[in-house]
Amino acid sequence: MLAYNELQKRKLGEYVKKLKFAFYWAASCGGCEIAVLDINEKILDVVALTDVVFWPVAMDLKYKDVEAMPDESIDVCFFNGAIRTEEQEHMAKLLREKAKMLVAFGSCACQGGIPGLANVANKKEIFDIVYLRSPSTWNPNMVTPKTSTRVKEGELTLPEFHDTVKTLSQTVKVDYYLPGCPPPAPKVADAIDAIVKGTLPSRGSVLAPERSVCDECPRKKEKKSIPRIYRVYEITPDPNVCLLEQGVICMGPATRGGCEALCVKANMPCTGCGGPCPGEVEQGAAMMSALSSVLGLGEEKTYDVEKLIAQIRDPLGTFYMYSLPASIINRRIIRK
Ligand code: SF4
Repeated sequence: MLAYNELQKRKLGEYVKKLKFAFYWAASCGGCEIAVLDINEKILDVVALTDVVFWPVAMDLKYKDVEAMPDESIDVCFFNGAIRTEEQEHMAKLLREKAKMLVAFGSCACQGGIPGLANVANKKEIFDIVYLRSPSTWNPNMVTPKTSTRVKEGELTLPEFHDTVKTLSQTVKVDYYLPGCPPPAPKVADAIDAIVKGTLPSRGSVLAPERSVCDECPRKKEKKSIPRIYRVYEITPDPNVCLLEQGVICMGPATRGGCEALCVKANMPCTGCGGPCPGEVEQGAAMMSALSSVLGLGEEKTYDVEKLIAQIRDPLGTFYMYSLPASIINRRIIRK
């Protein structure tokens, strides 16, 4: 990962200034935090070369500590998670001010991620389901979260919950994007290596290869038609043949590589966490286009395309699993 000489210089003399790093976790599952640790023993190199000045999951610092830092005093901030609440929006803006370089880390920060699928509903609909109507909910007083609650000790507050999930770049300017759910450990290590060595590409770049998951996939592609669409539990696919050609919807053609087709090598279809391919903005539409070129076509002309399409059980969750907020669709229209 890091050049040995570079590491030794820093370990021996400490005369090269350590980079100040920050990590933040917004609307996400926490997997991105684990991805940082997935670089295994290379984390020791990171420790040797950097000072972590803010990492709520690992360090007891308060927001007021960040607010007290001078602007641009953090060299790099890895920000994971989408923006769903007032608190996350505040932290995105604050860390943008405090960090020289802001990296959208993981699918949720880059594209909105799985939290972004909630853009099919608004705050009221989400609260109704989660706090009032889910089969496992017991809430006779119909209590839903409030931004302010009086108790005898004083006022308790919660951040405002927005109607719409946003990506990080829809909130503040982003310098680099490191996609994936979570970003693959080798790509995290490469990114840190490039930051330390000063070999990053131009600002605004995605820190992943300029190729698709299909380009990294070892499976054979032979026929060009799909006779039937299967969900993953309905079939045991041939491990050597393209999943899409076996009727399992695989997002590989519309997804940026960098993962070395990890899921596909485990006989599971790509679900698209790498975000759109280079040059694309609309990942879901790109996949629908790729699918339409193989659906029911080929030598056999007898397939009923409409019946095939009807077999796609969850089109939004299939084609936009990670990218709804970043897509042109963005969200369901809210009628007030
Ligand atoms: Fe591999 Fe999926 Fe692309 Fe087929 S569609 S080549 S299985 S990544």
